[in-house]
Parts: sequence; C-alpha cells; structure tokens
Amino acid sequence: MTYSAETQVLHLNAQYPEAHLIKQAAERIRAGGLVAFPTETVYGLGANGFDAMAVEHIFTAKARPTSDPIILHLSSRHQLELVAKDIPQLALQLAQAFWPGPLTLVLKRQPRVPAIVTAGLDTVAVRVPSHPVALALLKAADVPIAAPSANRFSRPSPTTAQHVLEDLDGCVDLVLDGGATSIGVESTVLDLTQAIPTILRPGGALIEPLRVMIPNLQIKQRFMGAEESMPSPGMLLKHYSPNAELMLFTGSDDSKVVAHMQAIIQRLVVEGKSVGVLTSEEDHPYFARLPIQLVELGPRTDLEMIARNLFAGMRTLDFLGVDVILVKSFVQEGLGLAIWDRLIRAAEGKVITIPD
Ligand code: AMP
Ligand code: MG
Repeated sequence: MTYSAETQVLHLNAQYPEAHLIKQAAERIRAGGLVAFPTETVYGLGANGFDAMAVEHIFTAKARPTSDPIILHLSSRHQLELVAKDIPQLALQLAQAFWPGPLTLVLKRQPRVPAIVTAGLDTVAVRVPSHPVALALLKAADVPIAAPSANRFSRPSPTTAQHVLEDLDGCVDLVLDGGATSIGVESTVLDLTQAIPTILRPGGALIEPLRVMIPNLQIKQRFMGAEESMPSPGMLLKHYSPNAELMLFTGSDDSKVVAHMQAIIQRLVVEGKSVGVLTSEEDHPYFARLPIQLVELGPRTDLEMIARNLFAGMRTLDFLGVDVILVKSFVQEGLGLAIWDRLIRAAEGKVITIPD
C-alpha cells in the first residue's frame, strides 16, 4: 500500500516565510495531510502528531517499518507537557539551553500521543527545530508535528526540496521549498529515560557542550554487528544508504590510505565498474586524474561544510549511476561523530582500516 497525492510545491522565503503560504501548509497538516518542510538538519515529512491515521500515512509514503519511531516537533519547549510526562529537571534545562535546535530528547510518553508515533514504546522523542519555516508551520498548525526525514526508508536524508521530490513525488501533499538545509545531518537523539543519559544517535547538537551539562553522558555504540540486539528501534545498521555500494576507508597514515584507495579504484575500473569518490578538498588532487566521478565535500577541517554536503554528495553519485563509492574518513570529533555515524551506516558497517 502507498499514500498517493498530487504533490504541490510552494517556494518560501527561508528567513521570513510568507504567512499565507504557511497558513496553507498548516491547514493541510490539520486536515490530516502530509507536508514536507525544511528544518535546520534535513527536510522532514510532517503530519499531525495527534492524528494516528495521518501518521500512518508517513510510514506508507516512506515505506518505513512501523517499528521505527518518529520524532515529534513542537513550536516551543512550553508544549513539552502535551506529549511527555514525568519530565526530569535535566530535560527542562537542556530544552532551555539547546532549543530551538538539533537536539532530540527521549522522554516518557503522554498517553494521548498515538502509539503509532512511538512504535508502541512508552517513550517519545521530541524537539523544537530552529528553521524559521518549520517554526512558523508548527505555530500555525498548533499541533505537534510528527516528522521523520523526508526520504524513502534507508535512502540518504534529503537536504533540499529537490531531494524530497526525487524520493516522494506523488506520495506527499505539499513540499515547502526553503532552500538547502544548513546542518545537513539529523538531530542528536538523547535518551533521558535511562538511568544514565544516553546518546542514541550523534547528530547536529555536539557532544562536547552536552557533556558540560551532563557529566555522566554516555554514547550508545550503534553498529556492533548483527548479533547484538537492537538497543532501540530505528537503529538499523543499513541506513542513509546510496544505491551504490559505499566503501569507507580509515587509517592514521593519510598517504597510505590514499594509496590504497587509488589501487582499489584502478582494480574496480579494470573490472568495468563505474566508481565515485566523495573527497575532501585536500585529497582532491590524488583522485583528479583517475577515470572516476569525483564529488568534493569541502576542506577536511570544515566539518560543518562536510556535513552539509554529505547526503547531497551521495545522491549526486547515485544520480551519476556509479556502482561503488569510496570515502576516506574524517576526524571523529565535534560534528565528525555524526559524519562518521552516517558514513559507517551507509557502508553497512564495513570499514577498511589501512595499517601504518
Ligand atoms: P528520523 O527522523 O527518520 O531521522 O528518525 C528518528 C529516529 O529517532 C528514529 O530512527 C529513532 O532512532 C529515534 N527515535 C524516535 N523516537 C524514539 C524513541 N521513543 N525512543 C528511542 N529513539 C527514538
Ligand atoms: Mg531518517
């Protein structure tokens, strides 16, 4: 089964969204429709979070398994009690410090939140996004908006309205085009229902400033292999994946890693494979002469730019029809943790470590 609709696209001013267009989108949400909209992280596929039928349409439109819970978006932290209960003091402090922004909190669910939103769990994930279009839509709709990323399940998340249309044209009522998103990877998911506050997914909110407020913060290791039971739904290893096979390379000797990648590229090309590389600006010259598709993500120290361009880069190489994508890993700190997480999952957990 699928959700079919005649998809309409509205172009909005990203900073000062036009009130009449926001009103139109809010009416669609309130009427049970699906509206894709930009957030500061990625584009979301939104529905009225209190309307179980509308939320069900999100799952069918995305072909998302109903075991994967959806984040509820609020217009303000003052709405928290609408969807969560027994809210700990720490949640209120974090909400004050980090919202609006790319931090999702997992809290105890208010019974009025439909079970389909949370995949039947007694917890609920919530955040207040900072994108002016998202905030204006939330205010006008005046209901929590359930919204996962607006891609087909397991595809790279969309960072432009065009990406949303690539995956969901004909399966969503309205797409609000507010240009490219600024962060480019999803929110950080922080579970406050466990004895020790636990990061379930690294994302746009950085671990380092969170640790200042939560000294005992722990990070869930997410991709330890199939034998480990799922620590929480939605943590499937294969995710964010391009159609092409992605090979992720790492190692402390940069020149050895590059040499190894060059050798593998030569071999793949001889085998008749079409090869793509996602590269930093610095490594660009090492790949420029090879018969491959090369997409530059940005300077390797500019993790914000790398994150912003990461999913779009995967989609570009898919569009060019490559069979294999090679990527050299980036530094694993700050936003680099979220970048590493997305890459390792796009690679389905296979990392090629080059010894010194
Ligand atoms: P998406 O918005 O598509 O990036 O996916 C949202 C992710 O948030 C899910 O895949 C889960 O990993 C996480 N999430 C949402 N709700 C919960 C919850 N109640 N408990 C734990 N994780 C959650
Ligand atoms: Mg997603």
